[in-house]
Amino acid sequence: MEAMDATPANPINGTAPEIAGPNSRHRTVGVTIGSGEGAVTVGGGAPIVVQSMTNTDTADIDGTVAQVAQLARAGSELVRITVDRDEAAVAVPRIRERLDRIGIHVPLIGDFHYIGHKLLADHPACAEALAKYRINPGNVGFKEKKDTQFSTIIEQAIRYGKTVRIGANWGSLDEALLTHLMDENAKLPRPIDARAVMREAMVRSALSSAERAVELGLPKDRIILSAKVSAVQDLIAVYREVARRSDFAIHLGLTEAGMGSKGLVAASAAIGVLLQEGIGDTIRYSLTPEPGGDRTVEVKAAQELLQTMGFRTFVPLVAACPGCGRTTSTTFQELARDIQNWIVQSMPEWKKAYPGVEGLNVAVMGCIVNGPGESKHADIGISLPGTGETPTAPVFIDGKKAMTLRGPTLAKDFETVVTDYIERRFGSGARSAAE
Ligand code: SF4
Repeated sequence: MEAMDATPANPINGTAPEIAGPNSRHRTVGVTIGSGEGAVTVGGGAPIVVQSMTNTDTADIDGTVAQVAQLARAGSELVRITVDRDEAAVAVPRIRERLDRIGIHVPLIGDFHYIGHKLLADHPACAEALAKYRINPGNVGFKEKKDTQFSTIIEQAIRYGKTVRIGANWGSLDEALLTHLMDENAKLPRPIDARAVMREAMVRSALSSAERAVELGLPKDRIILSAKVSAVQDLIAVYREVARRSDFAIHLGLTEAGMGSKGLVAASAAIGVLLQEGIGDTIRYSLTPEPGGDRTVEVKAAQELLQTMGFRTFVPLVAACPGCGRTTSTTFQELARDIQNWIVQSMPEWKKAYPGVEGLNVAVMGCIVNGPGESKHADIGISLPGTGETPTAPVFIDGKKAMTLRGPTLAKDFETVVTDYIERRFGSGARSAAE
């Protein structure tokens, strides 16, 4: 993660402003997932990890390999796959082999419900090929079978040296625990409301299962916790408690976030608040894609949240104004879109040739009102002419006006200017000069 500046003094009253954020992370035990080239550390102060999950049938090896590769290439550092039956468990080691053969070493996480103990015991190659097992204490087993089935999974994790995510979920909350807490609450002179009891059940379900795993011999540095709910305020409350009461590494996510802008907004609000409080070591956006939609949207959303909040950098940011009545032509929207797409497409090449380029800030602005000012704040910015303005576009580099572009090739000319800037600032010449 990039080093962050010390919190600046408040220029109004001379005191430091009360902003938490990237400097003040909740301390957790670091967990290394996978080995070799694909190994990823979650928690312990490591950069916040982006993860995702496939929606293919894991028994469909071709489809799952293709989607894992797509998610990994989009930047997912861990990918979870469903392991729900024998055919899926049999497919897992073959998926791992195929991915390794094409140079995709992203650690695979197996998502188990109800019969994880059996699948892991019956399919040792699957248990070995996975880097991490995700289990849900609410459905790992019921009544007297719960403890033995939970123990079996933990024993497999110990035997194969794997990490376990203990992921409590609002939709499959441990019924016995919830009933017990509801009964206890009812006996109190002043019972708390039922929703608060459910939150407490989520927290206890995750924490007591993690403690049980430690008792069984799984080290703390192989346990990650999550406690996902689908309502933003509940999620924030539950994770605050999990963080307050433990130092296990934390997986953040709003479960069943939903489709389209609703899912993006709800997940960003919930995850953003917690990250700002220093809570969360790995994040996943549980977005419902449009039918046939692009699964990598969840990876891009996670990256953009981390980057806009200043935790990590993945791709140069393009700041663009929203446009208004001063931008009646579509030139401005087209340029903002084209520059953004061009940057994303160029990134695989740029990352190899220009280390550090992901920290670049570009501004594409619609008119003279905020255009020059915002462009000066960016590394490189262009202020397009609004309606009625002279059809010229000043370009600002490192805060100073560097040139004026005009004419029908303006978009291409701007790309050339950005490319030259990147070469000058991040290219091999700049690196040798710095050495
Ligand atoms: S910079 Fe100009 S075009 Fe963009 S929103 Fe502001 S006034 Fe409108």
